[in-house]
Amino acid sequence: MDALRFDNRFVRELPGDPEQGHRRREVRGALWSSTAPTPVAAPTLLAHSREVAALLGLDDAEVASPAFAQVFGGNALLQGMQPYAGNYGGHQFGNWAGQLGDGRAITLGEAVNGRGERWELQLKGAGPTPYSRTADGRAVLRSSIREFLCSEAMHHLGVPTTRALSLVGTGEPVVRDMFYDGHPKPEPGAIVCRVAPSFLRFGHYQLPASRGDTDLLRTLVDFTIRRDFPHLSGEGEALFAAWFAEVCERTAVMVAHWMRVGFVHGVMNTDNMSVLGLTIDYGPYGWIDDYDPDWTPNTTDAQGRRYRFGWQPRVAGWNLSRFAQALSPLFDGVEALQEGLQRFADAYARADRDNIARKLGLSDCRDEDMERMDTLQQLLAQGEIDMTLFFRALIDADPMDASLAAFDDAFYDPAKREAVAPALRDWLVAYARRRDEDALDAAVRRERMRLANPRYVLRNYLAQQAIDAVEAGDLSGVHELLEVMRRPYDDQPGRARFAQRRPDWARQRAGCSMLSCSS
Ligand code: AMP
Ligand code: MG
Repeated sequence: MDALRFDNRFVRELPGDPEQGHRRREVRGALWSSTAPTPVAAPTLLAHSREVAALLGLDDAEVASPAFAQVFGGNALLQGMQPYAGNYGGHQFGNWAGQLGDGRAITLGEAVNGRGERWELQLKGAGPTPYSRTADGRAVLRSSIREFLCSEAMHHLGVPTTRALSLVGTGEPVVRDMFYDGHPKPEPGAIVCRVAPSFLRFGHYQLPASRGDTDLLRTLVDFTIRRDFPHLSGEGEALFAAWFAEVCERTAVMVAHWMRVGFVHGVMNTDNMSVLGLTIDYGPYGWIDDYDPDWTPNTTDAQGRRYRFGWQPRVAGWNLSRFAQALSPLFDGVEALQEGLQRFADAYARADRDNIARKLGLSDCRDEDMERMDTLQQLLAQGEIDMTLFFRALIDADPMDASLAAFDDAFYDPAKREAVAPALRDWLVAYARRRDEDALDAAVRRERMRLANPRYVLRNYLAQQAIDAVEAGDLSGVHELLEVMRRPYDDQPGRARFAQRRPDWARQRAGCSMLSCSS
């Protein structure tokens, strides 16, 4: 793995914790604690992303070598790696939770590839850190498969996200109480190597701010801008304001993509919000099958459903306002921060309109089209209609066909189909009229819709099937799913089974429609 060169600016330029080792502790005045991964019994490479390997300049032979599994299973370090756990706090489910930190993530270092791009390599599940509190720092195979696959699926969908290089089995059991119901059992353990320019979260800034440590806050903001936002110019407050506004804008773009593809993050706590506007921390996430803005996959959130699909834009806004509050000691007044928050609202509104125009194949989105989409979404919800299948079918459907045959596959419930059919026919007729008035050439429109409406998404039950097979010793399902998700907008011959509505058996099955944070 000679191609991997490290330039660890985070630990070089920012204050670290003087204490070594992973004794659980409060860490003040420091942004990281040096922490080595804890070795595992039998690290085995289960899957990897060839695109991410290529980003890092690793070839097939290197990935296949025993050394690779040793390093990315946490048993060995490469020259130049300086492992550490980051220190951050966060609002969890609306409440300030104090210090959290990387409880089971360990950054190995900042790799710089041949093109000069910086990629932070981070192991998730590599053992305890000072921030593990009462937990073990490990991750189970099922949740690691989910994070590995979804990181790459999101990337190929064009959604800003952290990436995943590798999935390594540890050969060691991890004990988890999957439903928090007093039935813990051992499960296979695994480690994902996540890759991103930076894993900095809103919570990184919130923690020093909550402690009144404005110097540390400023140091971190200066560093972030220098390293991760070098295109921003200016100084002092004006520079901070430009940076905050950009974080707001990126967050808006990210969440708009989630809404476009039907992704539900599941745990939008401020410690799970990246300042780079990347989707981060794949836990109890899920994908919309039948369109339901009130759905959340996260059973831990079943009561308030704070992180339901339809609330994600406003939760992102709330999180940004908490972030703004943390940054406020760096500003004289509140105007600049308010402007940033307005930038979020504007950028989201713009991205939402763009989604509507693209999903419906229109050249632009007029006010009446916003209503059109609204009405359609209500029909999708009432009719229990599959979101992904519906929009994909809309590309080629004849809107004048009263039988709705083009949408046959998208309905889950015949009675609801009957109930909603008249209104849906009306909607389609009006939509056809609007489309005919629009200037777009038919082929251009088709392509526009194809690229906004994926044929394949990582449906919850598909991931669960792959997990079940791996636990029975068969890795092929993970590999095939990764392969399918590499081209989500293409019709892939022979892969129709990955583009079907959720089967009935998966409706109420754990892992398929319900997930807990136990991972
Ligand atoms: P999450 O809800 O996964 O974003 O995690 C919230 C906090 O709990 C973060 O500080 C995590 O690092 C920590 N955490 C979650 N799971 C574990 C675990 N198994 N061991 C140690 N820390 C954990
Ligand atoms: Mg987290």
